[in-house]
Amino acid sequence: MKSHPANLRKKDSSPSVRTIIQILFLLATFLIGLRHLMPGESSKGGAFDAFCPFGGIETLWLYLTTGQTMATTNLLNFSVLLGVLGVSLLAGRAFCGWMCPVGTVQDLLAGLTRRLTGEKKHIRGKKSKSRYPVQLPPKLDPWLRSLKYLILAVVLLASTWSLYPPLHEICPARALFSFQLTTPLLISVLIVFIVTSMLNRLFWCKYLCPFGATLAIFNKIAPLRLVVNQSSCTACGRCDTECPMGIQNVPENLRSAECIQCLECLETCAVQDTLHIQLG
Ligand code: SF4
Ligand code: SF4
Ligand code: SF4
Repeated sequence: MKSHPANLRKKDSSPSVRTIIQILFLLATFLIGLRHLMPGESSKGGAFDAFCPFGGIETLWLYLTTGQTMATTNLLNFSVLLGVLGVSLLAGRAFCGWMCPVGTVQDLLAGLTRRLTGEKKHIRGKKSKSRYPVQLPPKLDPWLRSLKYLILAVVLLASTWSLYPPLHEICPARALFSFQLTTPLLISVLIVFIVTSMLNRLFWCKYLCPFGATLAIFNKIAPLRLVVNQSSCTACGRCDTECPMGIQNVPENLRSAECIQCLECLETCAVQDTLHIQLG
């Protein structure tokens, strides 16, 4: 169905609430990392890993079976994890789209790619031009997306015998924010993370992140969600083009496990109220 021009939304150039929240969480994470450069770090909550929600999952088995937590984690991990699970119960993977600093850094690196390649972000009502240098073949993409579930399974298995968080030496969050690039492996992780994020938007989120895999189930049950008004949708495909997670046929897949609740589809849709947020 073709939309009447009166239904077209106007472009808003001010930074979105999401961008502001992302930057605030990013700054907070930098501060958490920076405190390790200051004296007396052990009295301020423990190692960098202690602030990671996924650390709560990594150390859960050991805690349940022995009452101890893994080295570099502590009870703070469970508090952070519970906070994230609370957000997820309400709004699916909103933690990914709004709070996770690793996701935000990937967004910033994708923005850098846009500038380097001369591409512009969409303008409402006009065809989007957001494309990236590397697109994985459509046949390979779904298989690679399964990798993060495999990694989650391996981490859970390893957590039954490991004394350190299994991802400790290969975690991009540590590589980015802990200011402790102490091993060649961690430096390699940082380089690979930066390069892949620039070449393929949200590469780590789409294919590798076991915490994203953990939160995926909440997209199926969360009451706060995106819905589409099929009668006003023009099937223009703009939302597919702009979706940072590369979800195909967005209006039909608003409950996708891949959705990070970023609302970029809602933002880009030119037809008033076609995509909207609903509770229940
Ligand atoms: S998928 Fe992982 S890295 Fe990406 S935003 Fe979610 S938790 Fe962060
Ligand atoms: S929901 Fe997507 S396909 Fe439908 S009008 Fe909006 S941008 Fe176009
Ligand atoms: S479907 Fe919409 S909210 Fe979900 S990841 Fe894609 S653009 Fe973001």
